[in-house]
Amino acid sequence: MKSLNLKCRAKINLSIDVLGKREDDYHLVEMIMQTIDLYDNVNIEEIDRGIYIDCDNEYVPTDSSNIAYKAADLIKKEFNIDKGVKIVINKNIPVAAGLAGGSTNAAAVLVGLNKLWDLKLTQNQLMEIGLRLGADVPFCILGGTAIAKGIGEKLTRIKGLRNVKILICKPDILVSTKWVYQNLDMNNVSRRPNTDNIVNTLEENDVQALADSMVNVLESVTENKYIEIKEIKRTMIKYKALESMMSGSGPTVFGIFDNLDYAQNAKEELQKVYKQTYLVNAYKGGIEIEG
Ligand code: ATP
Repeated sequence: MKSLNLKCRAKINLSIDVLGKREDDYHLVEMIMQTIDLYDNVNIEEIDRGIYIDCDNEYVPTDSSNIAYKAADLIKKEFNIDKGVKIVINKNIPVAAGLAGGSTNAAAVLVGLNKLWDLKLTQNQLMEIGLRLGADVPFCILGGTAIAKGIGEKLTRIKGLRNVKILICKPDILVSTKWVYQNLDMNNVSRRPNTDNIVNTLEENDVQALADSMVNVLESVTENKYIEIKEIKRTMIKYKALESMMSGSGPTVFGIFDNLDYAQNAKEELQKVYKQTYLVNAYKGGIEIEG
């Protein structure tokens, strides 16, 4: 039977601004997305019929509510495929974390099935199909660094983070993205990101200027309810992160370091309390097909 291994990576947001709301209640955003080298392994194997999911993380559903299942179902229906697929997900990306863990699994299934079933879809076509599954899926297919507008799907590639260490720390709390957006009041937001300015800092690889201009307007909503966010940020700054900020709607917090020793010290300290702490690099690509 035919099978493929894929690596699909997580993302962080270097900035998030909310510009308004669409009629269907989706929020209009302007964000800078950065792929990081923290990945799940996804194996897809052609079988006679059906879609089966296996995952080593107890918090990930293995039924039709899994977004990887939905991706396979969409491809099967759209292209009248009568074969089935078994999808095995080895999770390293923290779940429900603001790191697009589910979206990147769906992206891997789309990219993988395109190859496995020789569908000859272009990257743009895959991204269009991906958008039907979730606003972050197109970015996970594209990868690297990009400005995301619209509901997150209008993507422009930009120069990425270079020569920095990124410390990721996921506290053991559950945050609902819906709750965060519902509780966001832009009148209470004291600072908003200047996206053009951040793009310039990346162009010039001015890491300190980037650190000074990173803003996530969702952060105050989440950190007012969960003290862990502020605690992690404080620890990262104490251990000399250039800046520390929440990713997505949280609860993951990341820190940017220009010194490996500082980053490792911060990691050791945070790991005493937060098991899901990872030191990673920025990553330039999207979904990787192995072998
Ligand atoms: P985003 O940053 O795109 O909002 P996230 O990192 O906040 O995503 P996910 O890890 O994608 O969140 O998980 C959100 C929820 O989706 C989980 O609570 C889980 O029940 C469900 N889920 C469905 N499919 C998956 C999957 N393949 N991997 C992880 N979670 C999944």
